[in-house]
Amino acid sequence: MPQVARRHRLSALLDPARQGKAALRLFAAMVLSAASEGIGLLLLVPMLAMLGAGAQDHRLSGLFAAFGLPLTLATVLGLFALLVMLRAVINLWRGLEAQQFQIQLVDGLRHRAWQALLNCDWRVLSGMRQSHNASLLISEIDRIGYGVNQAIAGTATLVTLAAVLLATMAISPHLALAAAIGGTVVMLAHRRLRRHAARLGEMQGKAADAIHERTSENLGALRIIKAFGREAEVAASISAGLKQLRAAERDFLLSRGLGQIALQATGAGLLALTVWLAIARWEASLAEILPLVALFARALPLLAGLQESWQNWAHSRPAIDVALDLIVTAENAREEVSAPGEPPLPLKQNISLNRLGIEYSGRTGRALDGIDLTIPAGSIVAITGPSGAGKSTLADVLAGLILADRGSMTVDGVAISGAMRRGWRSQVAYVQQEPVLFSGTIRENLAWAAPDADEGAMLHALDLAAAGFVRVLPAGLDTAIGDSGRQLSGGERQRIVLARALLRKPALLILDEAANALDAANEAAIAEAIKGLRGRLTIAIICHGGLLGGLADCVFRLDQGRLAPSSLHEESREG
Ligand code: ATP
Repeated sequence: MPQVARRHRLSALLDPARQGKAALRLFAAMVLSAASEGIGLLLLVPMLAMLGAGAQDHRLSGLFAAFGLPLTLATVLGLFALLVMLRAVINLWRGLEAQQFQIQLVDGLRHRAWQALLNCDWRVLSGMRQSHNASLLISEIDRIGYGVNQAIAGTATLVTLAAVLLATMAISPHLALAAAIGGTVVMLAHRRLRRHAARLGEMQGKAADAIHERTSENLGALRIIKAFGREAEVAASISAGLKQLRAAERDFLLSRGLGQIALQATGAGLLALTVWLAIARWEASLAEILPLVALFARALPLLAGLQESWQNWAHSRPAIDVALDLIVTAENAREEVSAPGEPPLPLKQNISLNRLGIEYSGRTGRALDGIDLTIPAGSIVAITGPSGAGKSTLADVLAGLILADRGSMTVDGVAISGAMRRGWRSQVAYVQQEPVLFSGTIRENLAWAAPDADEGAMLHALDLAAAGFVRVLPAGLDTAIGDSGRQLSGGERQRIVLARALLRKPALLILDEAANALDAANEAAIAEAIKGLRGRLTIAIICHGGLLGGLADCVFRLDQGRLAPSSLHEESREG
């Protein structure tokens, strides 16, 4: 997978066109909030002077005079109260802006990841680990959300620290410089902790990914787990994964806690040293020292907060890298888009493959090599051959999912190029061995493929697909079929899948070992349905013979990616 360069990470995450304004508003809120804090701290100087703890500051009296305000205790206290109120309002605004920005960024990332996956070339997409993608889209992006939240909190703290530093500078430039150097040293000293946090974040991400993978695989394999008596092993493997995850979480908590202890200790030491320097060396007045102690008392938790946010951000950063790697991989393999308004390709004459070759990356040899064949429109063809011969790859080519690496595929003489394949795909329906249905009703599953289809069209498609059993179900089309259609038998599921395919009114129907997992009665029902479709559309059946193969007008036999023309009848005689 391509690694997103570190320096590009933030720019890849932020879309200036969409999030630029929100980022600016957020930053403005941070600056205003920080300014109110700095001014509040500065007001301590005249307040303490009036309370008799020091000399009057002439710069401040000048500033009050410039605004026409009398420099009295009442004005200063009034201003202070006003500032606290204003600050509360600004902080509310800042909080809302931060939430909005975080939502935009995280949902934008989720949306971008989905778009990248949905538009990704099938060859790249089918090679990805979908459980990893699921873990990323469900849980890792939330971790990114937390990371972004921490980055925002860290930036707000940094801006506030800058305001506190400026206020310190107005009171004592020496101390401000010492505090700035001290703060930078403390932050640098914590670099190793932040790197450690990033490593722990990576471990945590991998552990969460493994748990997600095991969970989704095991939930899909409950029947076989029970049949093989592997319940205890599955439970143990889930607990082992959880243990690993919790260990990574605990290590991070410990490391963050230790960092805070180190920071508090260094900060307290620095405060003591600064106060000592102020009194013993620079002979600062009480009116200067007291606000400075207040400034330090404010700056220390800010520094601790900054370190914590930074460490949390470092911990979440690996999730961002993983998400961006996935997005970049998928975006780099983006399918070309058809020109707007381009009509779907009809199939009137034939589909022709000419010296067609397909290679998979990381594999030696070609999955398909020098394939020359023609499928006349309206015919039924069978594609047979031993396991690994390239049958499903050929089905993917015919469906427009995979483009030829060599040679070409034409439909009525028009070569299917990258930009055209989506148009061609809209003419193809595909039924695979494992029927894919969604939870919901039969009607919802049918409407998924053809949203405009009315009840009559749905019932007609079900009849064509030998799925008339739906008519006699008590709830008919509105029967709920459970998770992935598990409340139906395998044969019933497959016939509904066939009906759904037919509702699209495809020019080409591909059945990829569609009857392999069915019993003889269901296979016969599907074969009967296909027989009834003869002449209405072009049908390509991938099979190892059987009833469906017997319907073919023509058989193409594949062997190690090459075509060996023969007929099913010859094959069965050979067998
Ligand atoms: P079966 O009858 O067992 O389903 P098949 O005839 O349909 O096999 P294909 O699935 O087309 O065979 O596979 C043809 C070759 O291409 C095999 O060697 C397979 O390992 C390889 N192959 C298929 N898909 C991929 C992929 N996504 N990445 C790499 N190699 C692949």
